Amino acid sequence: MYKIALITGDGIGPELSESVISVLDTVNDKLGVKVEITKLEAGDAALQKTGKALPDQTLDTIKKSDACLKAPVGESAADVIVVLRRLLDLYANIRPAKSYPNMPALKENIDMVIVRENTEDLYTGMEFDVGDTCIALRSISKSASERIAKHAFETAIRRDQKRKVTCVHKSNVMRKTDGLFAKTCENISKNYPQIAFEHMYVDACAMNLIRQPEAFDVIVTTNLFGDILSDEASQVVGGLGMAPAANIGDRFALFEPVHGAAFDIAGKDIANPSSFILSAKMMFEWLGTKNNDKSCHDAARKIEDAVYGIVKEGIKTKDIGGNKSTKEFTQNVISRIT
Ligand code: ATP
Ligand code: MG
Repeated sequence: MYKIALITGDGIGPELSESVISVLDTVNDKLGVKVEITKLEAGDAALQKTGKALPDQTLDTIKKSDACLKAPVGESAADVIVVLRRLLDLYANIRPAKSYPNMPALKENIDMVIVRENTEDLYTGMEFDVGDTCIALRSISKSASERIAKHAFETAIRRDQKRKVTCVHKSNVMRKTDGLFAKTCENISKNYPQIAFEHMYVDACAMNLIRQPEAFDVIVTTNLFGDILSDEASQVVGGLGMAPAANIGDRFALFEPVHGAAFDIAGKDIANPSSFILSAKMMFEWLGTKNNDKSCHDAARKIEDAVYGIVKEGIKTKDIGGNKSTKEFTQNVISRIT
């Protein structure tokens, strides 16, 4: 029995959560992977009700769970996800960019994953004023670079596709910080002779994501570059409605859509739940690997096959060029999980 904590979120979060709950119920009933879901509050609604964007009870329940699914949160997003990443030491942010059929995409046949360092770089909030100038400090450590590099190589082995890791940085300009990141990744690469390793400057990478995205397998990069490149990559394959993400640490992991609360379409039953359903797919993959549980891998594959199958038939939500509602789309996904 896997205990799953589910933050239902704001905006389109509750609709996406209902969709994911019915997918998990189906996995539970039809595939025999036993899951127990606990719905939790966090975000704008929780802040209004309890005075805290991340209530203590929510955090306690997450800590006692096997994994966490998090729907998008509104204005208070940083007070939820940034805090959770730090408290649970979720140092690897995994953002796949994968082609699905019938998408309004720039290119076809893309299957890559961006492994983004999640704990340091310019995102630690070390900013201050010096006279009329504002300074931001960038910290890159050997230890954080080592563990994210290892994670990238292990990902390349598990995927078993092009077996390549591209290390993205700007060490020709930021010689100290990115120099350390690049050198550390290169040192780790020596432990993985079966995986090809290359360096790429971030500006060249931004260009190649448009020019030749099918050449990438695993990209490993620092926090800010990873943030920017993963949004770019998701757009190359068909947009935010299809984009899942994972935040992974050594003991715990949290899975969430890449996009935000999308208040403009909230409550209209038109949001694309794929981003969250595919996040649940990533969760089963992670649970399967962690617990050596084949049935979780099986569930992950069946969830993805179901999404793949219906979009291939043109059963799609509005954002990807269809006319199905969130509920209709979900119903179709569920009916294919057998
Ligand atoms: P944030 O400020 O946290 O980024 P947001 O409300 O701006 O949140 P985004 O996630 O940035 O929302 O999404 C931008 C736009 O993309 C939304 O306004 C919405 O129209 C569209 N969008 C995002 N996610 C989905 C989805 N799952 N299905 C359909 N459209 C979506
Ligand atoms: Mg936005």
